[in-house]
This record gives sequence, C-alpha cells and structure tokens, in this order.
Amino acid sequence: MSLKRTKIVDIFDASLVGQQVCVKGWVRTRRGNKNVQFVALNDGSTIKNIQIVVDLAKFSEEELKPITTGSSLCVEGLLVESEGKGQTCEIQAEKIQIYGTADPDSYPLQKKGHTMEFLRDIAHLRPRTNTFGAVFRIRHNMAIAIHRFFHERGFFYFHTPIITASDCEGAGQMFQVTTMNLYDLKKDENGSIRYDNDFFGKQASLTVSGQLEGELAATALGAIYTFGPTFRAENSNTPRHLAEFWMIEPEVAFNDIVDNMDLAEDFIKYCVKWALDNCYDDVKFLNDMFDKELIARLEGVLKQDFVRLTYTEGIKILEEAVAGGHKFEFPVYWGVDLASEHERFLVEEHFKRPVILTDYPKEIKAFYMKQNEDGKTVRAMDVLFPKIGEIIGGSEREESYDKLINRIEELNIPMKDMWWYLETRKFGTVPHSGFGLGFERLLLFVTGMSNIRDVIPFPRTPNNAEF
Ligand code: ATP
Ligand code: MN
Repeated sequence: MSLKRTKIVDIFDASLVGQQVCVKGWVRTRRGNKNVQFVALNDGSTIKNIQIVVDLAKFSEEELKPITTGSSLCVEGLLVESEGKGQTCEIQAEKIQIYGTADPDSYPLQKKGHTMEFLRDIAHLRPRTNTFGAVFRIRHNMAIAIHRFFHERGFFYFHTPIITASDCEGAGQMFQVTTMNLYDLKKDENGSIRYDNDFFGKQASLTVSGQLEGELAATALGAIYTFGPTFRAENSNTPRHLAEFWMIEPEVAFNDIVDNMDLAEDFIKYCVKWALDNCYDDVKFLNDMFDKELIARLEGVLKQDFVRLTYTEGIKILEEAVAGGHKFEFPVYWGVDLASEHERFLVEEHFKRPVILTDYPKEIKAFYMKQNEDGKTVRAMDVLFPKIGEIIGGSEREESYDKLINRIEELNIPMKDMWWYLETRKFGTVPHSGFGLGFERLLLFVTGMSNIRDVIPFPRTPNNAEF
C-alpha cells in the first residue's frame, strides 16, 4: 500500500477518473454474487459512499470474509466511471488491506432504520450512521459560520469563565463545583455549609451564561461574542433543553434594542444561508429522510423579514385565538411567561414566519434588562422560530446605575459578589445590548431534528451522563 490516500469527499472529482487511487474508511454495506462483490465505503468526510467493486477472479472468498458492515479498510484500485445508477464513479479494487473487523453478531449498526432512542444508547457509535454524520458535519459548519459572521463584522471572540462564584444571573439552576469531602461537610452555628475551606474559599458553580462578563468586555472592546459551554441544572425533560449546552452571546456597546434585533436577524440568516451553501448534501439527506419541508423552511427564513411586535400585542393575538376556540395547555394572560406552544402558535399559525417579541413584563425577565418608561415592561427581545419556539433571548441592558441598583434591591438579589459588574455602570456607562443564542436550538432548526439530544454528540440530561 503505497499510494497517497484520497478522502472520499474528493474522489468524485472527474479529473481523477482513470487514475489509481487509495481510499480508507468503514464498510457500510456489502452485497453481490459469486463473480463480483460491491462494498460501500464511507470515511466520514461526506455523506456519500464510494462503491468498491471486487472481482472474485482477483480475490478469494476467504480474503473477503472479514469485510462486513463496520469493518475498516484500505483499498487501492482504478477509479472508473460507474455504470450503475446513483453514483458517478467507483473503484475497481486491486489491493485491499483490512485494518479492523466488526463481528456481525455484536456490531450494533447492521441495518438501517434504528430508532433515535436506540441510537442515543449507542452514542459512541452513532456518528458512524448517515444521519449523525450529517448532523455533526453541519454542527462543525455552523460553528465556523458563527466565528466568520462575527469576525467579518469586527467582533472579538472573548472567553468568559466556566467556573463562577456569582450566582445571581438567575438564568437557571446551577451545578456546584467543589473539592470538599461530601461525607464530612463542615457547618457553621446556623447549620449552613462552610465554604471557606473549599477550593475557591467560597461557593462556586458552573456558569449558566457568560453575559455578565461579556458586558465587561463589550464596554471595553466595543463588540464581543462568547461561544462556549453553559450548564443549567434545570430538571426539565423536554426536547429543547440540555443540562450542558453551547451558547453564543454577542454583546455590543452603543447598540439599542433595534440594533440588537437587526444583529440577531442578520446573524441567524447568515448561519442558515451558510448551511444551505456549504452543507447542501447533508441538509438534503436530512430533508429526504426525516423532514420533507426542511429545505423549504430554511429558504423561507432567508426570504422573509422577521415580524417584530411587543409582548403585549402578542398576548392580544393569543387571547383572541383562545376566544376563537383555540385550545392551549397553559393559560394565556398579560404577565404570563409564554410556553413554547404559545410561541409556536404565533410563529407557525398566526404569522407563518419568525417573530421577535419585545418589551416583556419586568417580572418575568432578568434584573439587568433596561426598564421602559411605563414602569411595567423591560426592553427584552426573544426570537421565536418555527418548530423550536425561543431560539434567542436578549435585551438592551439597563445602563443607569441607580435604576439597576433599585431593581436589584427590589428583587433581593445577593450582589455582594457582583461589585465588579456594577462598576460598568459606575465608570463610563454606555447604552449596550446583547443576546444569547442556544447553539443546539439553532442546530435543531437547521437539521430538522426533533430532539435536542440528537444534535450534540454526547447529551447531558437528567439521569444521563454516559459516554
Ligand atoms: P427557555 O425559556 O427555552 O428555557 P431561557 O429563557 O431559560 O430558555 P435564556 O436564559 O434566555 O433561556 O438563554 C438564551 C438561549 O439559550 C435561549 O434562547 C435558548 O436558545 C438557549 N437555551 C436556554 N436554556 C437551554 C437549555 N437548557 N438547553 C439548550 N439551550 C438552551
Ligand atoms: Mn429566554
């Protein structure tokens, strides 16, 4: 075996036809008869397999026996145009080296048509399926698109800490980080756990959001984004929540809520266009296998302006729907935190395109959001998407020190560890805005998958941290 390997993604280049080539990969299927065998080989570089044609005049049955689904090979031979339908070229095998076998009695990915639940139980092997190969190639491409989008616009990629000692973000329940001996916890006279001997000398957790540190950076570098893991110990077993997920959080000095909406809309459209332009084979595969409207939905998002309306107007539409006989599981009234069924009604049934809802009641939003003059609402914005509901949550931030402090006191938020955050408002405060996009929610949309566990390689959810 001396030829240089060609990746399968590059083998369909017409200029290679007629040449000796070498490919390496895993066997997807093998079929044939006494004279000729056909092996479909995949190396993960593309959804496409290359067909290896094995002439039994050149190879003995004994040699071919270990070539079963899941085994790994190196093949050299002549690349020729294919006569069979469905592929442009194939390789007439001259040399075959078997790297590793995969016993048909124990290799679990024999046939197609496994359920997604079954594949989740074998998350260590599911990247070898067509579906998960496609999803994870798209996942990579979306990460690249995100960095390019911000880089092209002069944003700086800013790294915020994963371990944090501030617990007032309020975005969700936090996972604690400790090196204390849990069998021998020291308590004070009130029965509270003493953290002074813990690793950080105080209670520490995994971050639920990089926003607060992102604001420090935005009020210095002007425009930044974070892109990293976040952790929420929310015990919500839904198809849209993970305990560990990746979030993208741009934060921009001098942007108001309208700039923030423009940024969010441009950003999502850029990512969706990137998927169609750079991952068409994979998107098309998912469209044909799972969700026949996927491509139409992606193209639809690119063509349409997102609807922008206030929470109050949104509630009115939902109340009218209820009055007209529409049944929701959860009640609708001004002040309620919208459930995903409400969000999806606005998007899928009422407007039939993405919606940006703004000016939510302050009671259901975080303390740092800019307060409106009405005294009731804050300058929040959620971007709502078909099939997903909330894909982005953001706001213009309260830049007034006094208003921010008042709100913090009203809510009884423990701010003693947060003095550094308040200093952004003390020293050279400016209007600024930002938002958080859940990376896996974006992937749900772009891949058409229906469960968030199927767009991250190794999902972390209640009672599940295998692999
Ligand atoms: P939801 O109401 O859907 O639980 P949230 O309002 O708690 O979300 P934010 O705190 O606004 O979410 O977080 C910003 C974004 O992060 C959300 O718009 C969503 O895309 C994503 N996100 C939030 N929680 C999760 C989660 N548990 N798993 C995956 N993505 C999430
Ligand atoms: Mn939100």
